[in-house]
Amino acid sequence: MKVTFPHMGFMHIPIKSLLEGLRREVVVPPPITEHTLALGIKHAPEFTCLPLKIGLGNYIEALQAGADTILMAGGWGPCRFGYYAQVQRDILQELGYDFQMVILEAPDSKVSQLIDQLKRLGENVSFLEAVQAIRFAWYKLAALEKAEEHYLYILPRTTEKDRAEQLWDQALLHIDQAQSRKIIDEFVSDAIGSWNRLEQHHEPVLRIGLVGEVYTVLEPYSNQYIARSLGRLNAEVTNSIRLTEWLNDHLFKGYLIKSRKPYITGCARPYLASSVGGHGLETVGTTVDFAHEGYDGVIQVGPLTCMPEIVAQTILIRVAKEEQIPCMTMYFDEHSGNAGIQTRLEAFTDMLRRRKAAPGNYRIFQQGGTNSAVFPRG
Ligand code: SF4
Repeated sequence: MKVTFPHMGFMHIPIKSLLEGLRREVVVPPPITEHTLALGIKHAPEFTCLPLKIGLGNYIEALQAGADTILMAGGWGPCRFGYYAQVQRDILQELGYDFQMVILEAPDSKVSQLIDQLKRLGENVSFLEAVQAIRFAWYKLAALEKAEEHYLYILPRTTEKDRAEQLWDQALLHIDQAQSRKIIDEFVSDAIGSWNRLEQHHEPVLRIGLVGEVYTVLEPYSNQYIARSLGRLNAEVTNSIRLTEWLNDHLFKGYLIKSRKPYITGCARPYLASSVGGHGLETVGTTVDFAHEGYDGVIQVGPLTCMPEIVAQTILIRVAKEEQIPCMTMYFDEHSGNAGIQTRLEAFTDMLRRRKAAPGNYRIFQQGGTNSAVFPRG
């Protein structure tokens, strides 16, 4: 059995570690490129959302590299995610690929059900070995998030931005290769030390919260490397979604770490009181949270036609006005052009900077029925 799975940010590193711990051969799909997307666009229905298309491209490239088993998360709820695995399986079968698809479903009640699913995926592994594999993969994931947090803090503050990015790429590589917790810890502290030694400027740095659909927040290719672009504009990005939190809430039923979900749901309640599928509720709640934390602005990202984010977007207009936090929404699909995205980011950060310098002179209001914007009073 040669197992593959879709990319989503640096998720391939802990998943590879997990599957190797379960004694499975792993075929990590090649990094996402235009070719990956082109494969997805060619074979997926036009109206499906971007994550389905990129994921399909990942599978095709991995199957061509020798994978014979696809691991995919299941789901349910008002949006289309619950159909992804079935649709992708049918498309790949029609294309003539020979494979099996294993769909990991969130357990109904007990975490042991999930561990059992993973154990069955493994090659003669005991329950204890499955637990050890999960714990080591989790350790890698937490280390990656710690390193990323530091990278996103340093990038907007340093004059050596290329070097900061190189160090992040190195950290990803080293943590991927590490075979013990001690080595992971050494790599993370080396990376943090190197980032701290970079030359820093004294210009004001904006703080921007990134909210929206989970895949678009976590997979840089799908959001055209928005955190990197903002870092180069001296804006620090805080991701509203962390993979550890997402896995903890959706697959491990809040068993591994204390869940922030009840708090975020409470933040959203004055504006949205129930789930609308996907991350719509969390988008509203985390935007309110970012406003309370004094962030300079929020950017909502999602794939074009993403139903939960469209619902959240309509609510963010009111949130922006009442919480006085500028919000901008950006949807992505295969037609998104980098120059247009860069222009919007520059314009948004420019307005945030002016407002930060003279808050009383600017007000927030609805623009064109969609995004809120900051405009001079008068
Ligand atoms: S959350 Fe949005 S992008 Fe994700 S499957 Fe649902 S509609 Fe598609």
